[in-house]
Amino acid sequence: MSTLLHSRSRSRRDPGEFDDAGEEEMAGLSAKSDGPPMSKTRRDILHQQIRAIKDELGENDEDEDDVASLEKKMQEAGMPPNVWKHAQRELRRLRKMQPQQPGYGTSRTYLELLADLPWQIASEEHEIDLVAAKERLDSEHYGLSKVKKRIIEYLAVRKLKPDARGPVLCFVGPPGVGKTSLASSIAGALNRRFIRISLGGVKDEADIRGHRRTYIGSMPGRLIDGIKRVGVNNPVMLLDEIDKTGADVRGDPASALLEVLDPEQNKTFNDHYLNVPFDVSKVVFVATANRMQLMPAPLLDRMEVIELPGYTSEEKLRIAMLHLIPRVLEQHGITSEHIDIPEPTVELIIQRYTREAGVRNLSRHLAALARAAAVKVAEKDQSDRHTREMQTEVTQMIDHGGGGLIVEGAEVDMEVEAIGVQRQGSLPLAIKPEPLVVDEAVLEIVLGPPKFDGREAAERVATPGVAVGLVWTEVGGEVLFVESTAMLGKGDLHLTGQLGDVIKESAQIALTWVRARSAELKLPVAEAGSLMKERDIHIHFPAGAVPKDGPSAGVTLVTALVSLFAKRSVRADTAMTGEMTLRGLILPVGGIKDKILAAHRCGIRRVILPERNRKDLQEVPAPILMNMEIILAKRMEDVLHEAFEGGCPWKPATSRL
Ligand code: ADP
Repeated sequence: MSTLLHSRSRSRRDPGEFDDAGEEEMAGLSAKSDGPPMSKTRRDILHQQIRAIKDELGENDEDEDDVASLEKKMQEAGMPPNVWKHAQRELRRLRKMQPQQPGYGTSRTYLELLADLPWQIASEEHEIDLVAAKERLDSEHYGLSKVKKRIIEYLAVRKLKPDARGPVLCFVGPPGVGKTSLASSIAGALNRRFIRISLGGVKDEADIRGHRRTYIGSMPGRLIDGIKRVGVNNPVMLLDEIDKTGADVRGDPASALLEVLDPEQNKTFNDHYLNVPFDVSKVVFVATANRMQLMPAPLLDRMEVIELPGYTSEEKLRIAMLHLIPRVLEQHGITSEHIDIPEPTVELIIQRYTREAGVRNLSRHLAALARAAAVKVAEKDQSDRHTREMQTEVTQMIDHGGGGLIVEGAEVDMEVEAIGVQRQGSLPLAIKPEPLVVDEAVLEIVLGPPKFDGREAAERVATPGVAVGLVWTEVGGEVLFVESTAMLGKGDLHLTGQLGDVIKESAQIALTWVRARSAELKLPVAEAGSLMKERDIHIHFPAGAVPKDGPSAGVTLVTALVSLFAKRSVRADTAMTGEMTLRGLILPVGGIKDKILAAHRCGIRRVILPERNRKDLQEVPAPILMNMEIILAKRMEDVLHEAFEGGCPWKPATSRL
């Protein structure tokens, strides 16, 4: 207590800085001023006086108890010796402060964090049971055989060499394809806790590494915060959307992530807020990303990318029947006795209400149906209960021999024995619920009118000047329509639809190519001299609100323009992708698998691809390929030949290479 009194007295004199040097100096001073040892009675008297003074000041010992319990918690946290030393120093500092003093709160929060971190706590590690892990993966995920195989290999290596410094697994694919749930299955197989850290939109290095405590409102980074929340130092940590981190003036989060993922460095991960090293080498990191292209190369280097391209309609149907419906029913507290969603209905939902690579919207729509059934069940339950209560009342009255009914004290004559009331025996119990059978009509009532129908492409390319392209976005492949039109003007090209520079240049190249070959292609308007004479061309990419960029719309742009000038419609069953050079050569593009899946989802069965993308066809699921006609083109003339019904009559004879 003497130290306390002593330090408090100093704090009154100088409520500002305290440092260890100060403390030692004080200790020295007090040693000098110490007289002969104090007698016990004198000590007691002093204690009493302190207590009296504190009572007078309205202070009590609660704060001290608090600090004492914090110290106890810190002792139990099992910090490494160097951290413990640092923590004690910080605790001494806290002890010297008054709770009202600025800095007390932050110091305390910091110490709480030190005490809360799982320095020694780890999930107990059992030997990995590969058979059980495979069963688990199979029971939780339909299909994905390649991905599951890779995960089992990963687990096998960990089983043989638990401290193996293997690469970090990174699942890459559009939303809703099961990236997160696969990662949580890995945690299950390793018998470790699971924590997900979202990195989407993280631009500041401090988000990962924390802010120094000198900043107001500073806090630990997401990594240390995640470890604190999960409460063990060896969880499976999912670094979600790792491709969405971006560097700007506030530093480069990717470099902090590199340190986290580097087995050489992550034993002593240094969070700026924590200011002492924390060992994250026991954490099993798994990452997810929507696209690989955006990831910084050094980060990508540390990872093993496993691609999940998205599902076919057939796969979605199986996933819905085997996994999503049972899960959704359970989440809504109903069973198959209450709702029946037959397979054809699920097919309808897939075709008419969703157009996604994953199963997120499908799952959402199924949840909407489950909610509708839940309302029906709850209402029925209520009305059943009401009827039962009525019946009970009536029966009781009959049993009491009264033919009359008491209404607010007055006796009213009423015939109650008749009308379906079973006088003897049990009352009719809850009638077995009739399941809500979801058919097309129910779908329309619950989900509204269908959002998509198979006729979209046919309707949109009915007029000349429109072509169907395939693009690649974060949410997987997508079908995109390119519209062009001509009007009186001065030979200008107008482009709309939130386009990036690359796509704008593609449009310029496309127009130049068509203009240069207008005579060769025998475009009727060319007879007047120039294609653009007294004419403006406008090209639009719906949906106008979605930003678009990239070179892969080149062939689609040319096809749309040729269709416009030739006044002939493009085939509605054909979609295309490919970059075109100024001389009309077709260059390969990325995301072929996703694009073909997208075309298939939209009911398009013919796809024109660059010849040099032939190798990418291996990755497309065989059932899809069998269902589609894939045309490989080397030159723009080949594309045009295939894009129009009956071929391209104005195709120059020498066009094929
Ligand atoms: P992502 O992380 O790729 O966005 P999620 O892991 O969140 O996707 O998956 C969304 C939902 O779809 C989850 O409920 C998941 O279980 C389910 N799901 C996705 N793929 C499958 C599959 N192959 N089998 C069973 N369920 C799946």
